[in-house]
Amino acid sequence: MTIDMNRTDPSKTMAFCEPCSGIQLNWRRAPGHAELVQGANRKEPRDSGPVTVTRYRCDRCGSTWDYENNKANQRAGWSVVTR
Ligand SMILES: [Zn+2]
Repeated sequence: MTIDMNRTDPSKTMAFCEPCSGIQLNWRRAPGHAELVQGANRKEPRDSGPVTVTRYRCDRCGSTWDYENNKANQRAGWSVVTR
């Protein structure tokens, strides 16, 4: 398992599988990967109004992800859920 140490997010301390390591963080409309299993949707308040956040869990490595669908924020997208 290889982890890209150039990443500047907390995920670099976690054990990601290869497809999870390739997810582009905090970028709107970045794709996930085929082994992410979709979980619950929830609404989160933002300055621009409520947005939908979808929880995903990776079937391969067990990482938990949130995907924020926020049209007003180009930097919204995938983020790692730390437990
Ligand atoms: Zn994974």
